[in-house]
Amino acid sequence: QRPNSLHASDIAHSMHPYTNMRLHEEKGPMIMASGNGARVTDSDGKEYIEGLAGLWSVAVGFSETRLADAAYEQLKKLPYYHSFAHKAHEPSIRLAEKIVEMTPEGLNRVFFTNSGSEANDTVVKMVWFLNNGLGRPEKKKFLSRTKAYHGITIASGSLTGLAGNQKDFDLPAIPVTHLTCPHYWRYGEEGETEAEFTARLLKELEDTIIAEGPETIGAFIGEPVMGAGGVMTPPEGYWPGVVDICHKYDILVVSDEVINGFGRTGARFGCERYGFTPDILVSSKQLTSSYMPLAAIVVNDKVYNAIADNTAKLGNFGHGFTATGHPVSCAVGLENLKIIEEDDLMGNAKRLEPLFQDGLRAFADHPLVGEVRGVGLIAGLEMADKKTKQPIGKPGAVAAKVAALAAEEGLICRNVYDSVALCPPLIITEDDVKEIHARLGRALDRTLEWVEAGGV
Ligand code: PLP
Repeated sequence: QRPNSLHASDIAHSMHPYTNMRLHEEKGPMIMASGNGARVTDSDGKEYIEGLAGLWSVAVGFSETRLADAAYEQLKKLPYYHSFAHKAHEPSIRLAEKIVEMTPEGLNRVFFTNSGSEANDTVVKMVWFLNNGLGRPEKKKFLSRTKAYHGITIASGSLTGLAGNQKDFDLPAIPVTHLTCPHYWRYGEEGETEAEFTARLLKELEDTIIAEGPETIGAFIGEPVMGAGGVMTPPEGYWPGVVDICHKYDILVVSDEVINGFGRTGARFGCERYGFTPDILVSSKQLTSSYMPLAAIVVNDKVYNAIADNTAKLGNFGHGFTATGHPVSCAVGLENLKIIEEDDLMGNAKRLEPLFQDGLRAFADHPLVGEVRGVGLIAGLEMADKKTKQPIGKPGAVAAKVAALAAEEGLICRNVYDSVALCPPLIITEDDVKEIHARLGRALDRTLEWVEAGGV
């Protein structure tokens, strides 16, 4: 303990998200003090490669002065204005224009929120609002998947398919049906090929729609590559199949690209990587590299027109936040997207994908690793027994140990359930990638020694 230090103050005064607060009172925080490129330094002066880009988000690295300048200039010019009731300001207009230019053809209108959770709550309300306007108020239910992560507010937390975000909060609180997570290694049945697995999941989707009634289902929401549930890549043909079935029953498709968006998967958007076009696309995180809070919902003309027609009838769209399209966030977002384009960071992700992924796939032989999966610059290593696919020891313990020892080795990664997730800044270099592999390798070997010594 360090009396009168930041550590002591944190223990005395702060409540942390996603934290065992009693354990925190004993252990205290790891205080991050500064950033430089893909690296961050803690208050003890120890430097780490940020292998998760903060929370899957800092595309341009931790020292981009162009973003600091963009924020400062906007703060001096017009620090705040809103966009309620026909008001507007240049940063949100320019950013919306840029987002429409970058997102797939057909997605033409942008609504801003401050976080991914708020964005998904807003999507729920948009779907309800537009179906109310179309005179079919019963078409409200959402389809999601187990292990999905769509946020933690009341509606987005309902869409999320992880028990830890739901059961102790009395969620779901909105009508939502969770379908099977499209993770072949985990949920494929004995002897089932990947194509058969995909066909089974698509049949489950269609059977569910028919059983519950297409007239009761408003939208399907999914992450192209699932992130916070453990980094799961979808099987071949899954997404185009989902879209075909949903559209057959007039169900909107929402691509939650809060993690996937802006180059993470080696394509601009996850939906492009997996060959489908959603009706609604949600982005955040890499939109501003998380230098400022911001999320953007982009909708196609069909969705926009249904909402707009209803606002004409009602005289209003009764939804919006004080900071919707905050000018400083939007100025930072615009500059961030320019950097991503000018420095070809999406191209960098694509170029480094083979090196990054192959180096991680090499750990598939490690005795503690059950599966390695990923695409672009996002990956997950599932810590499990290769034969039984079950966790070795207490669920989550091995993955937590790997993340803790990786931090000792100077690499920040994140344990999510039994997986170790990696999602480095898009600016990383070949040498950084090799260093990530080396540090992770040492953490895995040290974890094996710990397991063999009876630690788990
Ligand atoms: N959707 C996805 C796919 C996410 O990964 C996250 C956060 O990690 C969210 C939504 C929620 O975003 P936020 O934490 O900004 O509320």
